[in-house]
Amino acid sequence: MRTVSGRTDRVVVVGAGLSGLAAALHLAGRGREVVVLEREDVPGGRAGRVDVDGYRLDTGPTVLTMPDLVADALGAVGAALEDHLSLIPLSPVYDARFADGSGLAVRSDAEAMAEEVRAFAGPAEARGYLRLRDWLTRLYRVEYDRFIAANTDSPLSLLSPALARLVAMGGFGSLERQVGRFIGDDRLRRVFSFQSLYAGVPPRRALAVYGVIAYMDTVAGVFFPRGGVRALPDALASAAAAAGVRFEYGAPVTALERRGDRVTAVRTSRGSRVPCDAVVLTTEPHVAYRLLGGAPRRPVRLRPAPSALVVHLGVPRRWDTGHHVISFGAAWRETFRELIDQGRTMTDPSLLITRPTATDPDLAPPGHDLLSVLAPVPNLDRGRLDWDRHGESYAARVLEVVEHRLLPGLTGEAEVLHTTTPADWARGGLVAGTPFSYAHTMAQTGPFRPGNFPRATANAVLAGSGTVPGVGVPTALISGRLAADRITGEPATTRSRTTAVGRGPR
Ligand SMILES: Cc1cc2nc3c(=O)[nH]c(=O)nc-3n(C[C@H](O)[C@H](O)[C@H](O)COP(=O)(O)OP(=O)(O)OC[C@H]3O[C@@H](n4cnc5c(N)ncnc54)[C@H](O)[C@@H]3O)c2cc1C
Repeated sequence: MRTVSGRTDRVVVVGAGLSGLAAALHLAGRGREVVVLEREDVPGGRAGRVDVDGYRLDTGPTVLTMPDLVADALGAVGAALEDHLSLIPLSPVYDARFADGSGLAVRSDAEAMAEEVRAFAGPAEARGYLRLRDWLTRLYRVEYDRFIAANTDSPLSLLSPALARLVAMGGFGSLERQVGRFIGDDRLRRVFSFQSLYAGVPPRRALAVYGVIAYMDTVAGVFFPRGGVRALPDALASAAAAAGVRFEYGAPVTALERRGDRVTAVRTSRGSRVPCDAVVLTTEPHVAYRLLGGAPRRPVRLRPAPSALVVHLGVPRRWDTGHHVISFGAAWRETFRELIDQGRTMTDPSLLITRPTATDPDLAPPGHDLLSVLAPVPNLDRGRLDWDRHGESYAARVLEVVEHRLLPGLTGEAEVLHTTTPADWARGGLVAGTPFSYAHTMAQTGPFRPGNFPRATANAVLAGSGTVPGVGVPTALISGRLAADRITGEPATTRSRTTAVGRGPR
């Protein structure tokens, strides 16, 4: 593995999102003097927050998977997860609702889920589910150490028995087809393949290796931090600060000072100048490259993932829906065609409805519910929609769908607290107005994704969604650790991880 050469005693991390916080913790744990420079006033980045009239909104992810990765980052400085974060396991992990009026509680416990599937679609599908679960688990075990949680310097270095196993397991076929080998019911197939949209690719075109996302939520389980998802960055930042990491908030980084091929100091628009031996950049890659004074050398332009519109609502009553409802429209392949190929909003939308107050009522005033609705929408490269003009009316249409399918009376009672559209993500500097960065197509996966050690300098490393391993909370945490490894070399204790990380409670 290529690593930063020369001294690495003082490291500046640009960005206090999850990748930056993980990098800071791992670096501090390895004896580095770390300064984190963050443009906002709080940590979290895309795992963001807004407070409105007594409601505490999470503007990014609404749940957490793979908590062992959080424990791993905290453990780097000798901190214990349970001292910093109270995680509530969700059961069911989702409620799936279908256009034909049927519904399924998706559980991470094998027997409980097999029972749900038996009642929903019969004993043959329940047996198929258990075989699918076994395949997803094996897929995860083969992939994690070698392909997800490891730095690679060239695609050739991946040629290994593990790669052969992955090929034999069908990992490079289509996710939709692989899931279909185990399960015949169309609705169930969606439950175990829609997760590829998180990676920015429709299930039919997604590589089956992305079944690991379905492993992470439907097998390893889903958790909610008490106090909201913001409690996660707060916990990481406070443990890092206790371990000696210095944070400067409200400090947008505007320039890197260089001597030869080394970055020697980082400058902010507030006028501070922080000398360093190495730097970790967790901004979007195009911003990182601008700061470094170069551009990634790629034959084809990178393809961004679809975006999302998110509406947050306050309601002066309590509903009885679960924490997470996925409301599938009747349309499926057409939905992805509209979003990804045609750059249009969905005519028959599939939506994610979250009620965090189902798990933590303190996130809203007493007797009130906090809800959010996430609608996938095209990114600004694909669909040049004027979201500042039409965002509100599109959000109103989405809420009517939710009212009709799930929550009668919603639009009469709910107060819109906050809406985020692709125009807002773009104003935050996110590529093509999407918070999901570059899609995980074959050409943008693993060694073909923008790497984390650009050749433009000898001591600058990237972390975050735009680089390896990719988009998402677990992957951002991993990317922070991979960046730390590029700087310090890989500590012997982290060499085998599948047994330590990601099994999750059963
Ligand atoms: C609505 C939504 C839903 C999501 N749902 C899920 C989900 O269900 N599951 C999942 O796994 N993931 C989900 N994600 C994705 C996940 O939140 C992100 O992949 C992850 O948080 C990204 O972390 P990061 O560190 O890569 O980037 P960021 O969080 O963007 O961190 C980068 C940081 O750098 C700072 N910064 C940028 N420029 C500068 C500068 N010049 N100077 C100083 N600081 C700077 C930013 O302010 C930010 O804090 C969701 C995201 C959103 C927005």
